[in-house]
Amino acid sequence: MYHSILVPVDISDPDFTQQVIAHVEAQANITDVAHVHFLTVIPTFPYYASLGLAHSGEAPNQEQIKNEALSKLSELIDQFDIPADRIKKHVVSGSPKDEILRVADSIKADLIIIASHRPGILTYLLGSNAAAVVRHAKCSVLVVR
Ligand code: ADP
Repeated sequence: MYHSILVPVDISDPDFTQQVIAHVEAQANITDVAHVHFLTVIPTFPYYASLGLAHSGEAPNQEQIKNEALSKLSELIDQFDIPADRIKKHVVSGSPKDEILRVADSIKADLIIIASHRPGILTYLLGSNAAAVVRHAKCSVLVVR
């Protein structure tokens, strides 16, 4: 039914994968033409740090961070039972909600599958990134609780 499925992944939150795995597999395997785009967004280097106000030693190497994020993302994707030729991986930096919406447009996503919030955080029914995606996405969004 869906042909271009976007799955935003917060790689700092390993429990996320367990939450969405069955839903992603179910939607991805309805037809054998569906592509699943896994996306992780590396939050941009904080502005105050760019002004030299942070006390961190060296500025992190962006290329190295991107490579590490890609290998972490690949490890998480290995848990999904989806044919490799139908999987695409995206690592970008910026604001998670803005980049999720931008990539959704660029891959012409017809479904976004997202977890509602970090497990264990009971205060919010919907995290800020999930809420922005639900509000602004042009396609259907499956929020996994
Ligand atoms: P919380 O604030 O509780 O972490 P979020 O709205 O940030 O809630 O997270 C909900 C979901 O949003 C995550 O499970 C993931 O799907 C997506 N998400 C959050 N941060 C990122 C990120 N940096 N890259 C990709 N997806 C993200």
